Amino acid sequence: MERFEAAERLKQLPPYLFKEIDRKKAEVKVKGVDIIDLGVGDPDLPTPEHIIAEMKRSVDDPANHRYPSYSGMSDFKETVAWWYKERFNVVLDPGTEVVSLIGSKEGIAHLPLAFINPGDVALVPSPAYPVYNIATIFAGGESHVMPLLSKNNFLPDLETIPSEVADRAKLMFINYPNNPTSAVADLDFFQRVVAFAQKHNILVCHDAAYTEMAFDGYRPPSFLEVDGAKEVGMEFHSLSKTYNMTGWRIGFAVGNSEGVGGLGAIKSNIDSGVFQAVQKAGIEAIRGDQACVKEMHRIYAARRDLMVQGLKEAGFELDAPKATFYLWIRVPEGYTSASLAARLLEETGLVVTPGNGFGEPGEGYFRIALTQNKKRLVEAIERLKGMRL
Ligand SMILES: *Cc1c(COP(=O)(O)O)cnc(C)c1O
Repeated sequence: MERFEAAERLKQLPPYLFKEIDRKKAEVKVKGVDIIDLGVGDPDLPTPEHIIAEMKRSVDDPANHRYPSYSGMSDFKETVAWWYKERFNVVLDPGTEVVSLIGSKEGIAHLPLAFINPGDVALVPSPAYPVYNIATIFAGGESHVMPLLSKNNFLPDLETIPSEVADRAKLMFINYPNNPTSAVADLDFFQRVVAFAQKHNILVCHDAAYTEMAFDGYRPPSFLEVDGAKEVGMEFHSLSKTYNMTGWRIGFAVGNSEGVGGLGAIKSNIDSGVFQAVQKAGIEAIRGDQACVKEMHRIYAARRDLMVQGLKEAGFELDAPKATFYLWIRVPEGYTSASLAARLLEETGLVVTPGNGFGEPGEGYFRIALTQNKKRLVEAIERLKGMRL
């Protein structure tokens, strides 16, 4: 017997599907195997120098030592609005349509507390970043799964959502460029989402963490570029992946003022905003020289080309992604996501993420993150080619 009975919301957490892989990883490590971890979506390269320099300057300034403004420094919010105009030609009011976040995960996790009552529905994609479903559960809501399938280019099929579910739904989460499938969406899809959301009065939450990580000249759009999108939607951004800043914890949400305001009201009662020195560094990231971003794109595109080629030569089936640092790879005949991930780890020391860990419709796939250097990726390919599938 536990002394303290956990709340229902903790008991309702879905099983942690990476447990088996974590256990095996520890086991293999003890044997002294040289593990190549292609599992985590955490950039391996450091934050660019000029951003670190701004952080150092700002840490020294006592003006930044006090509580920050809850919704974000006005300089930061103005910078975000400036960037949206420059990058997407979307106009935002920094006063009411922008809020700074302690990483976009924080904002996504808190949003359902502002709009979901017990029993309310959120439309949640699967496979997906797990936070959409878990945050819905924490708010007492129910997730209605929108499967992301290869035959639909990993976009949700809105036609298959029963109208009584759509009418009960308060929120819809979408995420393009997508983690884990690396699929992209065009404005035509976003247009259909806006029409659907308007019809059923749904607040759309677009997780846009990867719009700035795209290759071969492709520029992913913002959901807010579509006419009417701001009436029904908001967008979550992160500096984590674009600028190698996962450890810094800074992101922002923008768009519909009721959505942004609701999230801000929750946040102001839970946290007290983002350390101002970090927001200053964020301003430097967004306004400063973007050569570092171009350089990261060059590095990831080269890694992608290397890995796609090598995986194909080793007998795997996959498409080369236009965006994100993930490869979403079909599991060969005779394997499940879990059995393949286990076999790879045991025989080659490669850690990959089984697709079903992101939700049941991800079964039959595994994900590789391109967060190892070229030399390690070449080594990974060698090992894969030495394995008999
Ligand atoms: C990494 C990631 C995030 C979280 O980013 P933070 O800003 O570091 O919290 C959000 N959504 C997706 C899909 C991600 O992959």
